[in-house]
Amino acid sequence: MAKHFLVAVNTPFNNSLLTYKSEVEFLKGDLVEIPLGKRITFGCVINEISGDLDTDIEYKKIRGLVDDSINISGEIDFLSWISKYYHYPLGQLIFDTLPKVLKRPRELKFFEGENSIPEVVLENEQELAWEELDKLNIRSFSKKLIHGITGSGKSYIYLKFIKKVLNENRRVLFLVPEINLTPQFISFFVQHLKVPIYLYHSDISNSDKYNLWKLMQEDAGPCLIIGVRSSIFIPIKNLGCIVVDEEHDNSFKQDDRCPYSARDAALKKAQLNNIPILLGSATPGMDSFYNFKKTDDYIPITKRFSKGSLPEIDLVDLRETDYGIDFETWPIPVSTLEKVKQRLEAGEQVLFFINKLGFASYVQCRSCGHTFDCPNCSVSLTMFKGRRELSCHSCTYKEEMPSMCPMCQNMNLLNKGFGTEKVSEVLEEYFGDKSIARFDRDEIKTTKKLEEVLNSFHSRRIDILVGTQMVSKGHNFKNVNLVVVLGIDSQMNYPDYRANERAYQLLTQISGRSGRFGKSSSVMVHTHNPENDIFSFVKAHSFDGFYQKEIEIREVCSCPPFFKLVAIYINGKDRDVLVGLANKLTSELSFLSEKYFNEVGVLGPRPTVIEKRANKYTWVTLLKSSDINQLHNLLSTWEEKIKLKSGYSIKIDVDPTFIT
Ligand SMILES: [Zn+2]
Ligand SMILES: [Zn+2]
Repeated sequence: MAKHFLVAVNTPFNNSLLTYKSEVEFLKGDLVEIPLGKRITFGCVINEISGDLDTDIEYKKIRGLVDDSINISGEIDFLSWISKYYHYPLGQLIFDTLPKVLKRPRELKFFEGENSIPEVVLENEQELAWEELDKLNIRSFSKKLIHGITGSGKSYIYLKFIKKVLNENRRVLFLVPEINLTPQFISFFVQHLKVPIYLYHSDISNSDKYNLWKLMQEDAGPCLIIGVRSSIFIPIKNLGCIVVDEEHDNSFKQDDRCPYSARDAALKKAQLNNIPILLGSATPGMDSFYNFKKTDDYIPITKRFSKGSLPEIDLVDLRETDYGIDFETWPIPVSTLEKVKQRLEAGEQVLFFINKLGFASYVQCRSCGHTFDCPNCSVSLTMFKGRRELSCHSCTYKEEMPSMCPMCQNMNLLNKGFGTEKVSEVLEEYFGDKSIARFDRDEIKTTKKLEEVLNSFHSRRIDILVGTQMVSKGHNFKNVNLVVVLGIDSQMNYPDYRANERAYQLLTQISGRSGRFGKSSSVMVHTHNPENDIFSFVKAHSFDGFYQKEIEIREVCSCPPFFKLVAIYINGKDRDVLVGLANKLTSELSFLSEKYFNEVGVLGPRPTVIEKRANKYTWVTLLKSSDINQLHNLLSTWEEKIKLKSGYSIKIDVDPTFIT
């Protein structure tokens, strides 16, 4: 007698759950090979179907197991939740997250905990925070938000809790937003723990990923896994707790494929596994703060650990000091360079922050005004002087640096805007004998290079580090007491409801790199708009002040956390067809909203901020509602009817972090 199984098939169709038959037994969570149409693909067994099936249908047969060493039965509920919440096909989600199956994987690499440093003694507030955590029942679900200012010793509090869980022979998942934070956490945990420590991020080999998945399904002893957002999908047997550090960070949200938030998914995973979860940040997301602040699950730490003091924030008014693009040290005022000089002469190191790559943001002809734009996208090309290249930041297009204007043959080209390369050059010219290094995506392409630069900076072989947001997060630089921030205005003017929140977080995080170890320290923020309220809150180190002001705006504009948002991106190659499609799909949404789901507002469609990318156009429609059920039901009803021509696609982004 053939048995029947419900299988989540690796396909982009809305309904990826199909029925298959088999003479042999399969278990929930088995990965199988199956026919789909004329091709062979993969699927995951969800359950055996009992009871009567339609006898007229000839179900296709499961061909066999893909791999008998991986079974994800323990994750099916979790993955199903993600699939439903983010409106992404379950089968596709499962196979997006799975490492490639290997026949002969190499041996798994890991770090052996040495526990070589005695435990630090916590101070007043840190001790109180720990007492709160110590009360938790580690065998049941609970969530805590540790809101500790930068340098407040959050890591030591995590550490004590992690030790407690490991002592119960359970495993711990520690989530960080970016690869570049893993080196310092590895050395921290190697020094303080006596268990194996595993890494999981995009730069480890597929063999290591595959091995780790296999190992984590086994009943082996306690360990710590440090990973970026995708590690939330590792099926970890005996998982005892999850820690999400820098919980506010946008990198926890995936952009492409299924746009899930690893932080929100982690909360769900902890709940399903009935274990505690700790979220930590110096600048919690507005949504987290709003949800936690009114509960007992909120743990504030307001003082820096071990005598560290918060830096003085100096606003440099560029309206008074900016002498324009032709000035020798542009974009850095001489007064700033002199302050940097004093710090360097005192034997300190200095950090520069500028959130743009390259030498110039765009190049323009002085005579006719022609700008050099990407032929495939609606953006200007960024100039990289060292590589003698203009390149596009939204596709792979690049061209050799032009020597003259193609329109009027004028040789006088103007570089506008600036990035890390330009700032480094100015610093090199001004401080001839000092060592200056860059810390950005352009310069740091591997974890090896990352560690090299960080080590050089820690051992003081580099005097000034010029970085993008890569330097802003979590790093502990012992000898930095001055941070210089350039180009922050463009961040604040970004047309998105979260622009203020992001600017506040960014400034606070960057400031947090300064003066973590006692000395008097400062941050010089360069702006054309010093009157902006955000600066006064950053200056006063007043998260609450910022929050109070911002939450009122959110309520008035019906934005999160009061309303839920969904962004629907519609993408295609022919602009006219795309606009027609976007209008049609949006009017279907409006129709459903008016008729059945009154609580959902439909806005749009409109072109995205960068309408054309890599020769494809994108328009966006927004859904807004305070009724989450109506929102999901509207989406599900609408999705069922969608039929798209090839070359056109839709991306649904639930709780978008950026609305572009
Ligand atoms: Zn010209
Ligand atoms: Zn491009």
